[in-house]
Amino acid sequence: MERFQYHRASSSQEALRYTQGSYIAGGTNMVDYMTLGVLRPSRLIDINGLREAYGLIQASAQGLKLGALVRMSEAEDDPVVRRDYPVIHQTLALAASRQIRNMASLGGNVLQRTRCEYFRETSWPCNKRTPGSGCAALEGLNREHAILGTSPSCIATYAGDFAQALIALDATVETLDGPSGGVRRLRFADLHRQPGDSPHLETTLHPGELITSIEVPGGPWTRRSRYVKVRDRESYQFALVSAAVALDLDGDRVREARIALGGVATVPWRAREAEAALHGKQLTQSMASEAARAAFAAAKPRSHNAFKVAIGQQALIRALMEAKQIEV
Ligand code: SF4
Repeated sequence: MERFQYHRASSSQEALRYTQGSYIAGGTNMVDYMTLGVLRPSRLIDINGLREAYGLIQASAQGLKLGALVRMSEAEDDPVVRRDYPVIHQTLALAASRQIRNMASLGGNVLQRTRCEYFRETSWPCNKRTPGSGCAALEGLNREHAILGTSPSCIATYAGDFAQALIALDATVETLDGPSGGVRRLRFADLHRQPGDSPHLETTLHPGELITSIEVPGGPWTRRSRYVKVRDRESYQFALVSAAVALDLDGDRVREARIALGGVATVPWRAREAEAALHGKQLTQSMASEAARAAFAAAKPRSHNAFKVAIGQQALIRALMEAKQIEV
């Protein structure tokens, strides 16, 4: 690990003063990549001193506001999150290990970097780590890589779970933008960038911009929501495929379906085609299968990951049918 400066900020003004540097809260992703030599920040700005302002969970009839410095396990354990937003609870409870969830912040979680092995091992070419160097995964081992939202420059999967619930529920993100400290709000769906020809640019945040909270609007679909995650082993593993769904039903008929897919795309992935396929229809097993086919119609599998189409479809069908059974 290379030498770096360390500053512990006790106010947002103090944190935002440094335009050069990386924020650190739980450090579960940052320290990992610093140890591997993938990230070499010259300055770390510790923002744990801002927990009083940005470490709160607030629920109201309008929705849920989660401070960016809330720990994953705190949100997972919150009784309102568990009862009214089960898909959020499940994405958190099925992520990483409890030890990591006790450390990791929600703001850091949504910004976690890819787990692509070629990104993590610095001897390989990787456009995301070293722009213009190439992509070892295109012709290499790509079993865990993305099949949606890919580009000829990068096929790395977005690794998180929580983000799938947020994009399905139309969350928004609030930030403090730069030294002036101006508040900016953006749709969660606009936070991450698909790789295109610049995969090293992963988000639309400006340099020095700090996520302070995440807001999830309330709605008739939040309680009838479900997350299904399929992974190689049933603990401490990233998703091979996953599906987050939230349903507003009139009897068996779908008034509104919100669907996101994880483990299969380069960014948190809203499956609008699947939602459209279900709109106004009776939610039967065969309708769920039709929606699942629509969700993966644009998939572009590589040599080792074509299996994700079939498993991804099954995960989505299961999430839809299990969500339908939830009493609200
Ligand atoms: Fe790098 Fe993306 Fe290629 Fe992985 S898939 S090696 S992260 S460019």
